[in-house]
Amino acid sequence: MIERVISSVLDENSYIAEIEGTVYVVDPGKGAAEFIKKRYGNEEVFVLLTHCHSDHLIDLPELKIKAIYMHPEEKIVFETPELNFVSYFGLDQSQLSKLKKFLTDEPGEHWKVLHTPGHTPGSCCYLLRNRYLFTGDTLFERAIGRTDLPGGDPKKMENSLRLLKSFLVNNPELVILPGHGSSTTSASILKENPFLNF
Ligand SMILES: [Zn+2]
Ligand SMILES: [Zn+2]
Repeated sequence: MIERVISSVLDENSYIAEIEGTVYVVDPGKGAAEFIKKRYGNEEVFVLLTHCHSDHLIDLPELKIKAIYMHPEEKIVFETPELNFVSYFGLDQSQLSKLKKFLTDEPGEHWKVLHTPGHTPGSCCYLLRNRYLFTGDTLFERAIGRTDLPGGDPKKMENSLRLLKSFLVNNPELVILPGHGSSTTSASILKENPFLNF
């Protein structure tokens, strides 16, 4: 089961899933740590970041971390306050810089990583067990992520949307879980999202 915590900061979605005894959290925004603590106590969690804008990782310093995964091209965003906007929501870069346990290999087993740059250089989508696709700020129910922030790239976004569209067409049964807003399905997003209409 995948549970969603909607952050009080920018309505960001954090997703929490327990799979075979491991607790995974995709994008721990505000409220994720409290939820995890209540539900799982002091359990160490596996963190997957779709990208490193601060609304998606505000609660990272509060978690007991087993490992953190982000796409290698997102490291620069994680490390640069002008790119991740840490200070906007009361975080400090030093709180991020002291974190350890980064995975260099992809999370493996249940997860597949799709690199979808455009919103940020290392934005990615995570496919869980060929059924759930976490799209971060790349793809929303009826919109896409902005490309005008530092690190954004409209050309790369265009390519990423091409890749995602063909992926969705080939996998019509997916549940799409975006970084903001409601969840949807492949079939529905292909119909409803004007940015996939090409
Ligand atoms: Zn973002
Ligand atoms: Zn966001």
